[in-house]
Amino acid sequence: MKQVHNFNAGPCILPRVAIENTAQALLDLNGSGLSLIEISHRSKDFEAINNECIALWKELLGIPEGYHVLFLGGGASLQFCMLAYNLLSTKAAYVESGVWAKKAAKEAKLFGEVKVIASSSDKNFSYYPAIGDIPQDVDYLHITTNNTIYGTELRRDIDSPVPLVADMSSDIMSRPVDVSKYAMIYGGAQKNVGPAGVAFVIVKEALLGKVQRQIPTMLDYRTHIAEKSLFNTPPVFAIYAMRETLRWIKAQGGLQAMAELNQKKADLLYSYLDNESKMFVGTADKASRSLMNICFVMTEQHKGKEEEFMNVAKAAGMVGIKGHRSVGGFRASTYNALPLSSVQALVDCMRKFEQ
Ligand SMILES: *Cc1c(COP(=O)(O)O)cnc(C)c1O
Repeated sequence: MKQVHNFNAGPCILPRVAIENTAQALLDLNGSGLSLIEISHRSKDFEAINNECIALWKELLGIPEGYHVLFLGGGASLQFCMLAYNLLSTKAAYVESGVWAKKAAKEAKLFGEVKVIASSSDKNFSYYPAIGDIPQDVDYLHITTNNTIYGTELRRDIDSPVPLVADMSSDIMSRPVDVSKYAMIYGGAQKNVGPAGVAFVIVKEALLGKVQRQIPTMLDYRTHIAEKSLFNTPPVFAIYAMRETLRWIKAQGGLQAMAELNQKKADLLYSYLDNESKMFVGTADKASRSLMNICFVMTEQHKGKEEEFMNVAKAAGMVGIKGHRSVGGFRASTYNALPLSSVQALVDCMRKFEQ
């Protein structure tokens, strides 16, 4: 296979072994003579896969009693609406830290009043806004822990006097998290924990059943809690690949090991940008820098060379380093499965270009 360095922002790099095992199950699941996608989601085989996947989520994140882990279709984007449907009675607070956060707030407005209590839109979301006083009269506070497009990340578990809801699409399982500080954590799987097609939801049961409105069956978390995410046909392929990805994370030493590896990768690239490079410069505020998405551009003096560098990087096997159109320049996504050697290869490529 062609040797590449996969910096895609999502869908993105997954552990090779997870892809190989999933490919095998697609051909022949457990020697059954059947493909993973040819069996009933109510079969013993799939039930075991689903249960192990839930158990791995609980083990890796140390999820306390009283929470449920759900695997749902519709991506993180459906959760923007679904969480408000289930949790918003009158008012909710949102931190506007990027485009995904804005999209989440937009959906919530369909169900009640949205108070934006912090925003970094004044500087094109290049920093994580300070979360000051959290109002007590809201049903929940919504945050986006990692801003995939802008490369900023909160990287700590804040204390909140109201239920805390977090979109962790792009930094889930990248570090240990104190789940007990959150009422709900959700995201699309396709950045750190699996392929596209499944969203994960970790929700505290005590939080549900408080809104007065009627909730359509499929959009009610209690439906999926009661049926262990098997109310209707779940995304079986994506759940299988997610289980394989979580097995890999566990085999690497769990979230502490992931955090250490991610720190090393980020340190390597950020320190090159800060201490050595004359042509490239990071775009995110230093205190807000993401360990998952590292955004950089060429300095004013060298702006004209961005395309040239892109071509050189491509020839050296770099994939997916073009920045999002709202930031420009470059973005290297350094999710769990990306090896340190890929970041080293990128830095070597940048250094050589500068020389
Ligand atoms: C990618 C992403 C989303 C969107 O996920 P979908 O599953 O495509 O709906 C939402 N929030 C964040 C932070 C993301 O990175």
